Amino acid sequence: MKAELIANTYQLLLNGEWKETSSGKTIENLSPSDNMPVGAVQAMTENEVDLAVAGAKTAQKDWANRSFSERAELLYAWADQLLKMKEEIAETIMKEVGKGYSSAEKEVVRTADFIKYTAEEGKRIHGELINGGNFNAGSANKLAMVQRKPFGVVLAISPFNYPVNLSASKIAPALIAGNAVVFKPATQGAISGTLMIKALDKAGLPAGLVNLVTGKGSEIGDHLTTHPSINMINFTGGTETGEAISRKASMIPVILELGGKDPAIVLNDANFEKAAEDIVAGAFSYSGQRCTAIKRVLVMDEVADALVDKLKEKVNALKVGAPEDNAVVTPLINGKAADVVQQLVDDAVVKGATALTEIKRAGNLVYPVLLDNVTVDMEVAWKEPFGPVLPVIRVKNIEEAVTIANESEYGLQASIFTKSVEQAIHISNELETGTVQINGKTERGPDHFPFLGVKGSGLGVQGIRNSIESATREKVIVLNMNQG
Ligand code: NAP
Repeated sequence: MKAELIANTYQLLLNGEWKETSSGKTIENLSPSDNMPVGAVQAMTENEVDLAVAGAKTAQKDWANRSFSERAELLYAWADQLLKMKEEIAETIMKEVGKGYSSAEKEVVRTADFIKYTAEEGKRIHGELINGGNFNAGSANKLAMVQRKPFGVVLAISPFNYPVNLSASKIAPALIAGNAVVFKPATQGAISGTLMIKALDKAGLPAGLVNLVTGKGSEIGDHLTTHPSINMINFTGGTETGEAISRKASMIPVILELGGKDPAIVLNDANFEKAAEDIVAGAFSYSGQRCTAIKRVLVMDEVADALVDKLKEKVNALKVGAPEDNAVVTPLINGKAADVVQQLVDDAVVKGATALTEIKRAGNLVYPVLLDNVTVDMEVAWKEPFGPVLPVIRVKNIEEAVTIANESEYGLQASIFTKSVEQAIHISNELETGTVQINGKTERGPDHFPFLGVKGSGLGVQGIRNSIESATREKVIVLNMNQG
């Protein structure tokens, strides 16, 4: 299987046909971990993008007329096909984005679960009847029938880090709601995304209902996001890219899941063993390349030494190495990403932070860094590293922790570690984030929980039911009854 994967040039899916681009250009993806070729994807032209959007628009008409339960059948079949292709897809994720094999396999299984739950939840979406008389007696003859209707063509743009999960979590809710989808995967991640679409095609995808658009965002991105026949955009990626998309997309709904700088706030009465375990897992799994990774620790001065000792012990025990060996910390997605982390660490050390682990790098592989005595004048206190570095900021009191937490441009999630639930709820209410985790690491999921970011972390709400609702608009039909 490995040899076949390496040799492959993957085709695009356009209106039911797997084929090569007319540009004749392909983009070769190398593995971030050993620089070996994983395969190549098509660099589509703007003309092909137009054909993809037009084909989706046509296919959507018939799809919208099908019942929720009919649409659910396609999703169930998709989930089954994904599981049949589990090993192949997991191996591709591992090679293409450098994720440990077992995490890659979990991503595929979680995605199949997500799709099945979406099918179930879709069946429970229904409208409502509203009596006019509830407002005033003069409207008592009116009855509003409120239905959920699809937008039309949804543009799904996904990031590299969960190339299957964060793609399907856009496509499945859009489909169950009756939309067609134009899917643009991250270029580094596009092969995994292509295999996921192959599974959907095997499941009986109607021609054009999901079109796969591959090519660099910098080349075809603007053409896609400003296309007049795109009716909604669902994007996950960096804040800068997301903000630019939301400025360009006019008069259509946009959902954005963007970056984060999630803090873990550790109070004096926390269980330090549990806090350290969760913080290290939250900060370093998949080398910190997760939007909801813990990206800073805010710990009360009096207990900082006790916590830091435990953090150090656990960071030193992290397995560093190749994705094939199920290492936790693996080479970052590219050299530029590793440079960003290195620059943040260097800046902190120059400004007086204490590195509690050896600062070491081999190509894209950045060894995990635990930084103590980080202060707010250091870049690492504010910037999202998207890599294996954990800054510890010692604070005088809870107020200072909340102030520093909220001064961030981001607002995805936060964790609070304490034995006092009352205290935790009080602090949670003060924090400017979409979600607060009490005594647990920051993370997306379970996937039916609402998931959102505030400030620079996003716009709109995901989570299976929310995602389906976000992919629909309301349609109101008012029956004016004769009163005679
Ligand atoms: P990225 O560089 O912003 O890319 C995301 C997607 O946008 C890719 O498909 C990319 O295509 C595409 N793109 C680039 N330029 C575009 C343009 N002008 N128009 C339309 N699309 C364009 O992000 P990434 O490096 O893949 O992912 C890392 C970031 O995602 C981090 O900041 C992370 O925090 C965030 N993230 C957030 C969440 C969340 O749920 N909040 C989850 C995961 C990741 P190309 O690959 O072809 O450039």
